[in-house]
Amino acid sequence: MINRWLYLFNEVDKAEAYVGGNWDDVRGLLGGKGANLAEMARIGVPVPPGFTITSKACNEYIKQGEIFPEGMWEQVQEALKVIESETGKILGGKKNPLFVSCRSGAKFSMPGMMDTVLNIGLNDETVETLIELTGDKRFAYDSYRRLVQMFGIVVMGVPDEFFDDLISETKSKAGVESEAELNADDWKELTKKFKQVFKNKTKLDFPQDPYIQLMLATEAVFKSWNGKRAYDYRHAARIPHDLGTAVNIVTMVFGNMGDNSATGVAMTRNGSTGEKHIEGDYLINAQGEDVVAGTHITKDISLMKEEMPAAYAEFEQIVSRLEKHYGEMQDVEFTIEKEKLWMLQTRDGKRTAKASVRIAVDMANEGLISRREAVLRVEPEQVDFFLHPQFDINAKKIATEKGNLVATGINVSPGAAIGIVALDADLAEEWGNEGRNVIMVRPETKPDDVHGMLAAKGILTGKGGRTSHAALVARQFGKPAVVGVKELNIQMSKRLIEVNGTIINEGDWISVDGSTGEVFLGQLSCTVPDLNDQWLIKLLSWADEFRKLGVWANADYPSDAKRARDYGAEGIGLCRTEHMFMESERLPLVQKMIMADLPVEQREAIDSLLPFQRNDFDGLFRVMDGLPVIIRLIDPPLHEFLPNQIELMRDLSDLKIRLQHAGTLDEINTLLQQFKDKEKILHRVEKLREENPMLGLRGVRLGIHIPEITLMQVRAIFEAACQVSKDGVEVLPKIMIPFISHSNELEIQLNRLKDEARKVMEKLNVHINYKFGTMIEIPRAALTADKMAEYAEFFSFGTNDLTQMSFGLSRDDAEAVFLIEYLESGILPDNPFATIDEEGVGQLMKMAITKGRKSKPDLECGICGEHGGDPQSIALCHNMGLDYVSCSPFRVPVARLAAAHAALLENKS
Ligand code: PEP
Ligand code: MG
Repeated sequence: MINRWLYLFNEVDKAEAYVGGNWDDVRGLLGGKGANLAEMARIGVPVPPGFTITSKACNEYIKQGEIFPEGMWEQVQEALKVIESETGKILGGKKNPLFVSCRSGAKFSMPGMMDTVLNIGLNDETVETLIELTGDKRFAYDSYRRLVQMFGIVVMGVPDEFFDDLISETKSKAGVESEAELNADDWKELTKKFKQVFKNKTKLDFPQDPYIQLMLATEAVFKSWNGKRAYDYRHAARIPHDLGTAVNIVTMVFGNMGDNSATGVAMTRNGSTGEKHIEGDYLINAQGEDVVAGTHITKDISLMKEEMPAAYAEFEQIVSRLEKHYGEMQDVEFTIEKEKLWMLQTRDGKRTAKASVRIAVDMANEGLISRREAVLRVEPEQVDFFLHPQFDINAKKIATEKGNLVATGINVSPGAAIGIVALDADLAEEWGNEGRNVIMVRPETKPDDVHGMLAAKGILTGKGGRTSHAALVARQFGKPAVVGVKELNIQMSKRLIEVNGTIINEGDWISVDGSTGEVFLGQLSCTVPDLNDQWLIKLLSWADEFRKLGVWANADYPSDAKRARDYGAEGIGLCRTEHMFMESERLPLVQKMIMADLPVEQREAIDSLLPFQRNDFDGLFRVMDGLPVIIRLIDPPLHEFLPNQIELMRDLSDLKIRLQHAGTLDEINTLLQQFKDKEKILHRVEKLREENPMLGLRGVRLGIHIPEITLMQVRAIFEAACQVSKDGVEVLPKIMIPFISHSNELEIQLNRLKDEARKVMEKLNVHINYKFGTMIEIPRAALTADKMAEYAEFFSFGTNDLTQMSFGLSRDDAEAVFLIEYLESGILPDNPFATIDEEGVGQLMKMAITKGRKSKPDLECGICGEHGGDPQSIALCHNMGLDYVSCSPFRVPVARLAAAHAALLENKS
């Protein structure tokens, strides 16, 4: 059977049958643009006749060393014949010539990253016919020069400035400011000059044969799949590199055929906020590139209602039909040729995280999609953008009063960005890679700039609008961006910007508010907003209905716990008590406890810590009224609470020198005392020093070695619990013992601690509903989980240590040295400290759950390592049957959505 390398737009049924009926596979074959053009044709939306060369053909072309697959070109010629008969036009025909565009279109939208050539079919002869047919010489030559220009740049690689310079020259000679003011003769002359540039640069004549034009343009589009900017974009957007691009050959319709013609782009809803109204830009008597390139000042689409009422009414009706058909916000391109509306493209619209959430919720409320679908539409990571920094209102007010608000442009991607100015993408990337915060400032952005945009914290441009390249890319990657700052005068030769009389040098700090469009000098302070967006609250409430995993938080202080609870946490999964020891007023007491020579001194110090701890737990319990609170007993080795050994040695040398120069006896006495104190600390530090402290006297080992510390903690927990319980608070403490490797450790500690708990409750005459459990964070604990479960009433996986010990990889050092190299070279697929390593660590977890529940069927199992906030790990936790995940308060909303996704996709993965 002969391979089929293309499908006419009205053959989508055949393409569908070929891939087995799956629409996603149709998109893979025909690309998003091609599939949607064909789909539009199927539902009766007016699209210009055309066909799509498949991505399979592109892959074949690349595989065979840049040769068209066998039979492809013959099929193109046959398809052209069909289009010729449909339109009554002939490619290269003298009487009624057909013109076509050749557009890239991959499965996933990659705006502007690959190539397109328009107006194919124009040559020295057909341009004259076009003049005869339209009576518009200016339009005909404008179209012809565009072809020569695009063909030169895209197909032959001629640098664009050779063409741009000629246009500038012609404009100044004609004494006009915009291209729109150039006349027919100017364009005719420019076409001639462009052809000359073409010849000078390529040593070839501009091809007059439309078939040659089409053939080379198709090849260029195929090749652009592997161009640098497309590659960089795919890398950043995690689009596979082996998909290939389809090529759409579409009959040209012209928006520049006079004042009854126009062209534009629009989104069916606002891409920044999600509001439900058509947003877009258009231009009368112009071609599509003029609108999207950011080089022309476009008109707001709402004006079209007045200027072209009939076309607008039809347009409005079509886009609403498209939205209903796809159940998604659409991003469309259209052209009106002599009052006839043509839809050139429709695709799912790119949007900010904020808009994503609102659109999903609104669409569910409008009945366009189900709630399930709405929840799945929003990626968990998008929730994180609701926590993006916003400029402090006061800081903005002060900056404005000081005259530091230097400009305002269009707010196309929300959030606050602060950085130093970089005037080109390479420098932005270089500085970004050095860890510096950069704002990339450009006259306009092009696809070539994408690497700089990705490295920058924010983007600022002089030209462009809401649908310009900069806006689309910034929104997709959540980069705050302000575009269309008309007053921005970028002087590349001096590497500075002049804006409304202020000079900003490259490297100066600026602050850009992507939510309001304001640009400030200097660094403004930021605040983190609350998650009070009504659409997000609704979406998360739907997510809660679907998820099976509980979402708890790791919080050490009442204020963190309150935030966590506000964000929807259903418990505290980890309170690291040692953090409480670090506070300035307590540290001396902790140090005293460590330094004590006599048991009585040590007990005294420990007892003086008790009221602090009791107070801490009291606060936590009150905030978490009615919800479980897991308190982990002290974990890190004691030396962490003492000063650094090297610093101590340095201090001692200092004191020695000062002693030599001391003048009075008093001074000598004071210095001597200080010397002795420091020396004592140093001796203790040296005594406590371990070669591998992370594998040393920590966690339960410390509790067994110095029982008084953990006994004090348990006393504090139960005294606080009894007190708040008396005050009517429902308190559910769970005491967690860390770093267990042998069940005997658990047995010893539990006997001691439970006894202490009983004593406190008896003394205060209050019964507390409590549990004792353990962390599973040492591989041996996982391997012997059945034994652990004989004592523990719950398990919590400490996947930070479990990962460290399963890989034998220091969690503190690995990322600074070789882990990054491992990730870059693909030795490890993901950072195991961010995403659970399913194959190894995951296996230990599964085994521990199974063994643990064998001993104790109702054993509660959760996770409190950093992985508890990672969507991929959350899916794994769901599949393993954990009861809850616990993560930082800021990740709680992300985790709620991720847990819902895990439940909804359970049977699909
Ligand atoms: C862990 O090891 O995963 C854990 C939560 O404990 P920590 O990070 O405090 O060692
Ligand atoms: Mg740990």
